[in-house]
Amino acid sequence: MARIRLKNLCKSYKGGVQNAVKDANLEIADKEFVVLVGPSGCGKSTVLRMIAGLEDITAGEVWIDGTLVNDVPAKDRNIAMVFQNYALYPHMTVFENMAFGLKLRNYPKSEIEKRVNEAAEILGITRYLDRKPRQLSGGERQRVAVGRSIVRKPAVFLFDEPLSNIDAKMRVQMRTELHKLRLRLQTTFIYVTHDQTEAMTMGDRIVVMKDGLIQQSADPMTIYDKPANKFVASFIGSPPINLIKGRLMRRDKKIFFDEGKFQVKLIEDMSPSMLNYVDKEVILAIRSEDIYDKLFATEASADNTVRATCEVVEPLGSEVYLYLSSGKHNFIARVGAHDRPEVNREMDLVFDMSKVHFFDVQTEETIV
Ligand code: ADP
Repeated sequence: MARIRLKNLCKSYKGGVQNAVKDANLEIADKEFVVLVGPSGCGKSTVLRMIAGLEDITAGEVWIDGTLVNDVPAKDRNIAMVFQNYALYPHMTVFENMAFGLKLRNYPKSEIEKRVNEAAEILGITRYLDRKPRQLSGGERQRVAVGRSIVRKPAVFLFDEPLSNIDAKMRVQMRTELHKLRLRLQTTFIYVTHDQTEAMTMGDRIVVMKDGLIQQSADPMTIYDKPANKFVASFIGSPPINLIKGRLMRRDKKIFFDEGKFQVKLIEDMSPSMLNYVDKEVILAIRSEDIYDKLFATEASADNTVRATCEVVEPLGSEVYLYLSSGKHNFIARVGAHDRPEVNREMDLVFDMSKVHFFDVQTEETIV
């Protein structure tokens, strides 16, 4: 069992980066799988290393199960950490690599064997136990690294970009395996990645970071559907959300977003705060799957139709990406597999205005 609490956690590296982590507050429940995600350098690993006890805390507190652990050494925190470069001992077999930590802690031989065999079975690496790391693929080595931490039965698993050194196909497989592992181990997981797909698919909760600051912490669908700001909206989702700058205007008692080349009407039950932005610039954000080819749209009207030139048609098998230009902005629509509009021709697109977000141009916060 392990609950973790970060209270106003800060990190500045001596003589180096100041505010690598700024005032991080986070509560992680027992058995929760939390993913810290953000671009390289945003402070994710620093947070993880402070939880593990591998990095001094500049200010703030780390609590594990009601104990303040700021001054508790790493080895006494009952935490296991799996790194990107899994650092297996090359001269040892898989068995020896997995048993090493337990041997150091003077576990009896029978207990070591039991735990290593159990972990190897969970990870499907029993047949490799006598091999050396160089005789394994990247994915298999990563499993050994995970196995090495499982045998200790820690209260918390910390994963620092564990899948970034393995190829794309293996990564997808390992993702589902970690998922199963997590269900089986019933332990708290904190997982760091820069890959938004990993974050979306694996986390009970996603914590999005930028420049040392937590931007939003919520379940994956809330992060996707209700991003707190422009950064979160554009970091999560592929292809990235379309961002279109324009101005709000009132016409016939209705509120429109005027892009310059096209106008679309805001839905009737829009947020009342949008009224504060009439005659001002805002950023409209719409995901590619919320833009339809008018030929296949069910709810098209003059108020939600946008004329644009289709510059590239990119068929991906199950769907097609259309790269469009209004003449002022470029945007992407994700349409059905058999929709193949002609290239370099104008076409009509329908925006699902119930799905759009608006951001304040200055603060880049979502207007709610
Ligand atoms: P991430 O894991 O999100 O890529 P890090 O937590 O590794 O980011 O790094 C956050 C910031 O702190 C970066 O600007 C990085 O260069 C800096 N940093 C990380 N580790 C050290 C260190 N040991 N010494 C000095 N600066 C560091």
